[in-house]
Amino acid sequence: MAAAWQDVVRDAAAVREAAAVAVDAALLAGVLMRTGEQPHASDVVNYAPFTLLPSAVPQALFEQAYAVQQDFNLLVDAISQNKEFLEQTLASTIKVDDFTARLFRIYMQVLEEGLAQTVFLGINRSDYMFDCGLDGTAALRQIEINTIAASFGGLTSRTADVHRLVLKVLGKTEEASNLLPNNPAKRLALGIAKAWELYGSQRAVVMFLVEDVQRNIFDQRCIENELWNRNIRVVRKRFRDVFEQGSLDASRRLYMDGQEVAVVYYREGYVPQVYDQQNWEARLLLERSRAVKCPDIATQLAGTKKVQQELSRPGTLEKLLPGRPEAIARIRATFAGLYSLDEGEEGDRIAARAIAEPDRFVLKPQREGGGNNLYGEELREVLEKIKDSPERTSYILMDKIKPQPALNYLLRAHSPLQMSECISELGIFGVYVRQGQELVLNQAAGHLLRTKAIEHADGGVAAGVAVLDTPYLV
Ligand code: ADP
Ligand code: MG
Repeated sequence: MAAAWQDVVRDAAAVREAAAVAVDAALLAGVLMRTGEQPHASDVVNYAPFTLLPSAVPQALFEQAYAVQQDFNLLVDAISQNKEFLEQTLASTIKVDDFTARLFRIYMQVLEEGLAQTVFLGINRSDYMFDCGLDGTAALRQIEINTIAASFGGLTSRTADVHRLVLKVLGKTEEASNLLPNNPAKRLALGIAKAWELYGSQRAVVMFLVEDVQRNIFDQRCIENELWNRNIRVVRKRFRDVFEQGSLDASRRLYMDGQEVAVVYYREGYVPQVYDQQNWEARLLLERSRAVKCPDIATQLAGTKKVQQELSRPGTLEKLLPGRPEAIARIRATFAGLYSLDEGEEGDRIAARAIAEPDRFVLKPQREGGGNNLYGEELREVLEKIKDSPERTSYILMDKIKPQPALNYLLRAHSPLQMSECISELGIFGVYVRQGQELVLNQAAGHLLRTKAIEHADGGVAAGVAVLDTPYLV
């Protein structure tokens, strides 16, 4: 699958011409980001980084990833309602990881009070890489599932048009017509709209909970504008605004300065750094409220690396999804090797193996957002240091996925045009809505392909490592 554009990728003149067209097309299509220098205003913007060429993706694996998405939606939803499972699974983690512990405390507090929320909305993105076996065949392997603030559903709704044009400029008109349509923004908005409708108050708004620094605002605007198109009012607020303006009435309806909120869509809240005391209070207020949280705190916990690791234990999926052997088989077929580092013999053994062969594994803490994982020598050093301490429990180990690289150009503002060996990560968006015990919507909502140069082990688009891409099915 590596060599899809072999005839053009080394043609410097053709590449230069296509890149100029590509950048203008991206700006015209709205594949945009605010700049690092002016992250608070849209006076000056850049195109979001993207590949010159769409990347080859094996069709069978692409279809497999779509086919399992509704199963993953079901699974995440089931975990979020299973207190016993979350309690048991996270027990060792919360002893050593402060952030997970604080989230867990809010979860327990909200449960003790009794949930006011009756409508539930999940938006997730399950990410995969294509593991290349010794015989050259590729297998779909889940990297992780993001249950909070899964991004780029907006911008990626616009990249296929850009790549279609690039292929035409490169004389590949027929291939251009093969690029699939993809509109996660519309389908995620549909889920939000459904939750808003079921909440049942015409006057109430959808609140996007956003970061202080909003470089990726255009990605969010794509979804916002879909909601406005449906005549649903959207407001953008930060945790600090919630602390200052938020209140609950007697039936725990959420108000922001007198304006009722039906849905809280978090695009923030997954890293410890954003939470000072006031922001923790704001989070608690939101979680206690009747408003539909996307995600509620239980669903955020369902997306932790520790939960992912426990899912791969024999028998766990059977307990979580009783009577669904086919869904379980589809889910399990995507799992890479995952290992607990909890104290005890099992953890000792795998820690020793990883120290002996660090290039076969990835060491992951309970963090989101890219740039946190450890590889190779660094993995060895850290594991050596913590292998006999409880701190080890705050990490999990995972088999390292080794995809086949392909040549491409990563287009970034102010960067020279330069060919790179690249690998890709495919994400499938999922959306579901549950009212009480009834699942009223469960869909795959589109895809995202992100590509990075092989010299970077880790890091997403927001972290400046990966770039947006479009799958070209082969
Ligand atoms: P985060 O929550 O920070 O996004 P991920 O688990 O998605 O954490 O890891 C971040 C990045 O690290 C991924 O996008 C991928 O490039 C790389 N990575 C993660 N797990 C693996 C793995 N098992 N094998 C190879 N690369 C991995
Ligand atoms: Mg990730």
